[in-house]
Amino acid sequence: MENCPFCKIVNRRLPADIVYENDRVLVFRDIHPAAPVHLLVVPKIHIQTLSDCTGVHAGLLGEMMALIPSLADQQRIGVVGSTAETRVGGYRIIINTGPDGGQEVYHLHIHLIGGPRPWKYKN
Ligand code: 5GP
Ligand code: ZN
Repeated sequence: MENCPFCKIVNRRLPADIVYENDRVLVFRDIHPAAPVHLLVVPKIHIQTLSDCTGVHAGLLGEMMALIPSLADQQRIGVVGSTAETRVGGYRIIINTGPDGGQEVYHLHIHLIGGPRPWKYKN
């Protein structure tokens, strides 16, 4: 899409700090990080919002979601430890959707946010 910043990043017409890429998905750092780690996971095709997705997008959405644990481990924010006493790390994923959802960029994206608190993620 002509004026979509995330399409421009996908097409390398706008720079970004890219941390992962495959044929369908691109992952880059948010330009205004709200926490020590703040990545955006985007499909390479332009989809405006999660509300535009249907069953035909299940594979793509599943792939984006399934990437999260390895991205978190790569960024050293994955959960380590298996009991309440030993467990550390962790992160949050967010898909802001539409005006009431606080979406600002209308190209579907998953925020992956983590690292030591405090964070400044918007409500
Ligand atoms: P939304 O509010 O739509 O869920 O989140 C959009 C996110 O995209 C914001 O966190 C914002 O900082 C980030 N963002 C907006 N424009 C750019 C850009 O050109 N490059 C990068 N890396 N991030 C951007
Ligand atoms: Zn786009």
